[in-house]
Amino acid sequence: MSFNHGLKPGETINNRQLMDIFKCSNSGGMRRSHRTNSLVIVSDHTKSIYEDRWVDGIFHYTGMGLEGDQSLDYAQNKTLAQSHTNGVNVYLFEVFEPQKYVFIGQVELAGEPYQEQQPDANGNLRTVWVFPLKLVDAASALLPQEILTKKQERKNREASRLTDQELEIRARFSKKGVGVRQVSTTTYERNSYVSEFAKRRANGICQLCENPAPFNDKYGNPYLETHHIVWLSEGGDDSIENTVALCPNCHRKMHALNLKSDREKLKRKALSGIAN
Ligand SMILES: [Zn+2]
Ligand SMILES: [Zn+2]
Repeated sequence: MSFNHGLKPGETINNRQLMDIFKCSNSGGMRRSHRTNSLVIVSDHTKSIYEDRWVDGIFHYTGMGLEGDQSLDYAQNKTLAQSHTNGVNVYLFEVFEPQKYVFIGQVELAGEPYQEQQPDANGNLRTVWVFPLKLVDAASALLPQEILTKKQERKNREASRLTDQELEIRARFSKKGVGVRQVSTTTYERNSYVSEFAKRRANGICQLCENPAPFNDKYGNPYLETHHIVWLSEGGDDSIENTVALCPNCHRKMHALNLKSDREKLKRKALSGIAN
């Protein structure tokens, strides 16, 4: 069997392809395949109650068992715990959007599994096993920031649906270390002349709420932010007809709601010149 089974880190496949490639079962976070001598680990951020995460290049993966204390002798926890000596190849996938399995790479234990207190599926505290994993091949793929942002939004929505009690136990017993991972981002090089023009045209007044800028910047100029009515990420132009100057409040509002009525108002304002 070829290294990585022909998969490239960062490649996205569906569940059917995953089963075909690894000859493993169709569900579960740890899928053992005797036919390909592999253990496929799926960290599904759309379903999991766990906070599996990367810290300093190590992926901290919580083992099997949704309720009660977890055991290192249980099912695939054992396979993973013994993966240094049992010759099983371990492959890691992460799921950020339903049914999209992103291949991260072949992994191995980076240290001894350790125990931690985490709430179970019923919100009761129990002891879990966490496996520190690292990539076998250092050349990992940079995932686009966008899918991680979507994952974060999904998690935020899930958290908002919990009862106060459920929320408190999860908040109190979450890991305190901050998850860190490298991602790839796209940045837009904005035209300084267009931005400066939009600010002068606004003349210190937010073009949406029409209130004065809330404070002056360190050079004594009214603090406003430039905004593209049709977002650059949506193919908008970096032109004076598509750029306005907003107070920070209204700027956040445009990115949170992007109401049609607000866009129409801003489009009209973006047609005028500096003299107003
Ligand atoms: Zn405003
Ligand atoms: Zn903006």
